[in-house]
Amino acid sequence: MLEHLGTDDRGCKGLAGKTGQTRRQPLILLVRMALIATRRAATSGARMNNLARINDPPRATVIAAPPAAATLPILIAPNLALKTPARAVQPADSDLVRDLVPRMFATMYRAPGIGLAAPQVGHGLRVLVVDLMPDDKQQPYGMINPEIVAVSEGLATREEGCLSLPNQYADITRPAKVKIRYLDLGGARQEIEAEGLLAACLQHELDHLDGILFVDHLSILKRNMIMRRLAKEQRQKRDDQQR
Ligand code: ZN
Repeated sequence: MLEHLGTDDRGCKGLAGKTGQTRRQPLILLVRMALIATRRAATSGARMNNLARINDPPRATVIAAPPAAATLPILIAPNLALKTPARAVQPADSDLVRDLVPRMFATMYRAPGIGLAAPQVGHGLRVLVVDLMPDDKQQPYGMINPEIVAVSEGLATREEGCLSLPNQYADITRPAKVKIRYLDLGGARQEIEAEGLLAACLQHELDHLDGILFVDHLSILKRNMIMRRLAKEQRQKRDDQQR
């Protein structure tokens, strides 16, 4: 499915254009860094949102795995909260974010998925978690107020899926490489240069913070087709549960 390749570059422009919108205030979140390998069973065999192979490891500090935490319900499209841009995390949000991030990790691992943004669990904050599980080992990133500071001219097309659009997949074209600046869970400024699957995943999650879903990168025709199919499957699921 290459019909949108090279013609749909909204992702590139849209993401590049958001630089500077987020505020980068120092923030101490005091999130515990205990390395606890949790929920491995749930993640083995993960489809990883079907985003194809894992590329080179990123150049960035890897944040330790989160402790076990209660999971959160994932909002399913079309839900207005998924279309609403999230606001920057402020120092006053520390307690909320400290509680939220471990639960986001737990929710992502259980799904299983490789990325989750706060709006997907009903929190309109610029927070995301990602773990590609290279070699089936945890490599979690928790990002506060992430922003894209550079994108490559080169584009890459990958099949993407989303925990908020279960069982729906489409080829999405985005910049092949991105540089992202963010605050880690300890409140320290970090920068990461990502390519391959990580680049696609991070751009996908950053889109969520702006109320953009992967289907928004498709033609209206194709987007409507996916949304209709999703609605039908969700109806079917509800009917099955009521029986
Ligand atoms: Zn998603």
